[in-house]
Amino acid sequence: MEKTIFQKIIDREIPATIVYEDDNFIAILDINPVNIGHTLVIPKHPWVNMYEMPAEDFDHMMQVAHMLGVKIKNTLEADGVNIIMNNDAAAGQVVFHAHVHIIPRYTGDGHEHWHGARGYNEGEAEMIADKIMENY
Ligand code: 5GP
Repeated sequence: MEKTIFQKIIDREIPATIVYEDDNFIAILDINPVNIGHTLVIPKHPWVNMYEMPAEDFDHMMQVAHMLGVKIKNTLEADGVNIIMNNDAAAGQVVFHAHVHIIPRYTGDGHEHWHGARGYNEGEAEMIADKIMENY
């Protein structure tokens, strides 16, 4: 199978600006940042997305994202930070090697979130909650 761009970065076949590395994770600056300092936390194991990741490894990835998120906020004096993971093309995933985005945010930086204007019909929220809870 063709290596992903992130695997090539992990294997030092192509360059990246590294901001953190340990035995299991690497964090790099996104080549096309939403804001300066936009960072990607990438497991060295090539899981495609979070569904494939054991919960323990996902926890570990989020610990790295937490550590770096706080550090980035303080260092870059951000007003806020988004932690985002896109899983599957439908959710905006473009590189199919699991990763978490850390995006420093500034008041009035102009980036918009999706707008959740749909609402729920009568009884619909309870029905969906029951369905989700059935699957534990
Ligand atoms: P996704 O949409 O898959 O969650 O995000 C992939 C991210 O990887 C994008 O924000 C994109 O800018 C970044 N990216 C893609 N190719 C490269 C690369 O070669 N180097 C770095 N540093 N980032 C990349």
